[in-house]
Amino acid sequence: MKEIYTFADLQDWRKAGGRAKPPIRLGLVGSPVAHSLSPQIQNAALKEAGIAMGYTRFEIAPEELQGALEILSALDFVGVNLTVPHKIPALAFVDEMDETARKIGAINTLKIEGGKLRAFNTDGRGFARAIREEFSVDLRDLRILVLGAGGAARAIALQCAKENCERLVIANRDVVKANALCEQLREFFAGPRVLGPVSRLQATGLDEAASRFQIANVDLLVNATPLGLRRRDALPITARLLAPHLMVYDTVYARGETALVSEARAAGARAANGLSMLLHQGALAYEIWFERSAPLDAMRNALRS
Ligand code: NAP
Repeated sequence: MKEIYTFADLQDWRKAGGRAKPPIRLGLVGSPVAHSLSPQIQNAALKEAGIAMGYTRFEIAPEELQGALEILSALDFVGVNLTVPHKIPALAFVDEMDETARKIGAINTLKIEGGKLRAFNTDGRGFARAIREEFSVDLRDLRILVLGAGGAARAIALQCAKENCERLVIANRDVVKANALCEQLREFFAGPRVLGPVSRLQATGLDEAASRFQIANVDLLVNATPLGLRRRDALPITARLLAPHLMVYDTVYARGETALVSEARAAGARAANGLSMLLHQGALAYEIWFERSAPLDAMRNALRS
């Protein structure tokens, strides 16, 4: 099995990947995909479960996506994960979509059944499981500030809303997008919870003054922007606003600490990076493909090794 296959490989699959042992029936479709840890996690799960299939990476450009999905479907793949830049454009090529994926407007998992593409988004539920694992709390008990209003933020915010969190604030550089997301979630916050002077659902900008006020009125801070992926990135929030009462979850993942996690811990807060969300959204994808529980310990060990 090669590390990465291309669209040209898919077009000539019999030669390029068709003879791999175990046969490749799953993969990650995106660009770039070289750094992804998903093959490590999923291949460990397949091995542990005794399923004779392989999971690989497909480097696919936007203009190749439709063709790639058609070929994967014809080749009898079980499914694929989708990553940047395909999570939204892929919506145009699927046959069915679950309600969560429809609400989020982005997908990260496809199941291929009888030539039909069924779409799911496991980011929100993966996030909820990660928060439980990292901080031993449920979303429903928390006041939550989400930084970002893109695909990951929408999945996380919808999950927080569905689990009836105490309070939800969406802070985004483009506040129009934060407002639009709040409007979409308003129906979940109609209940009679009383929390003093602050609103249960609120949109705001990412500026320091707005963030200072919000930080004082939340328990969990979530970075769902890509800030932190590159070493030279600024922090998504000013370090001096980080405070000991916070739990900080950075959806960006790294071996070791991200800059946000380091700053949060230095400020006395509890903090974790996005590896646990990666693990759990991957486990949920496995559960969709194989309709059985994922071997979580094997997947976690693969991620750590
Ligand atoms: P996306 O749809 O492109 O959204 C990116 C969001 O970040 C937008 O709200 C954008 O704000 C904001 N943003 C981008 N650059 C910014 C900057 N320089 N300063 C301030 N805000 C900025 O991306 P996505 O799919 O949501 O993914 C976001 C990140 O989530 C990924 O990079 C990844 O690290 C993480 N993620 C992790 C997992 C996991 O399993 N751990 C899963 C999914 C995603 P505007 O609206 O103003 O442009």
